[in-house]
Amino acid sequence: MAASTQENDSQENMKIGVLALQGDFDAHRRRLEELGAEVVLVKKPQQLDEIDGLVIPGGESGTFLKLLGETGFEKLKQFVRLKPTFGTCAGAILLASEVENPKQRGLGAIDMRIRRNAYGRQLDSSIREGKLLTGLNGSGSPLEMVFIRAPKIERVGKDVEIVAMEGSDPVVVRQGRAMASTFHPELSDDTRVHRVFLDMAHEALLEETRGVFRGGPSLSDELNRPRRKGKDRF
Ligand code: GLN
Repeated sequence: MAASTQENDSQENMKIGVLALQGDFDAHRRRLEELGAEVVLVKKPQQLDEIDGLVIPGGESGTFLKLLGETGFEKLKQFVRLKPTFGTCAGAILLASEVENPKQRGLGAIDMRIRRNAYGRQLDSSIREGKLLTGLNGSGSPLEMVFIRAPKIERVGKDVEIVAMEGSDPVVVRQGRAMASTFHPELSDDTRVHRVFLDMAHEALLEETRGVFRGGPSLSDELNRPRRKGKDRF
């Protein structure tokens, strides 16, 4: 079909990074490749300069913070202000502006309060059916959701769009170029959530080519900022 060929063509030109410090990054890599993106496993901060979007996978958000270190955290914070980023579970926690249970810092890409391990021990892991509210052919349609020691989004700011709900909880949200999911879409066969993200990344690429993105300092200024010597590792 013409539409899907066109979509795949455009996504083939995109380089999407998957943060590969820990956690389940490989399932994201496979999903993104299946959808036609070129995938780079990101292990060093300078690789962020070479990608059009980033997935931050699940894992343990506290461990991510330790592995990132101060320099990695700051570099990633700059990145998520400017470039499409999709965080799942621990990745969603990292993108938040406010983190509870326990309190820890977030990158502040999405104005939301998120509570870690919010489902209690009995519901440590579960597969539930929620609703996708947006995306390709997905308005209000059922979506399988795999939750693993998942966080809950307790508050969202007025500029945050809710992309999917489970019961009365927002479970996929986005603001600007950042998107967060409290469950693991890479563990279900349904590709729609990753498609929503790739569409955002594609749109961002088009905006940058046309020079219309005004979300922050100029992209080239940011990415060409001199880096300090010896800080080439997360
Ligand atoms: N419980 C983890 C945390 O708080 C997230 C779990 C996951 O990513 N599956 O960071």
